[in-house]
Amino acid sequence: VKLLINLMEEVVSSLVDEVIQKADMCGCDRCRLDVMAVSLNHLPPRYVVSDKGKAFSKADFLDMQNNVSVLRELTRAAEVVRSHPRH
Ligand SMILES: [Zn+2]
Repeated sequence: VKLLINLMEEVVSSLVDEVIQKADMCGCDRCRLDVMAVSLNHLPPRYVVSDKGKAFSKADFLDMQNNVSVLRELTRAAEVVRSHPRH
């Protein structure tokens, strides 16, 4: 089975909990997904074709995790959701 995966979404998903903790904000499912949505709307998608949901380059993934603009967008999104939670 081949899957189309947005690597940027995987990276954001791997970083969001830490960012939410640092922002000292609500970490419920709704707020967590809102932070992901807001940040992903401001980040370029990075699509890869993957086997069984795995097998993307670990080096690419780590590069993106350490990308300053990804962290900056996540932090900005956390601030947006923290000041205007949807619940
Ligand atoms: Zn919440």
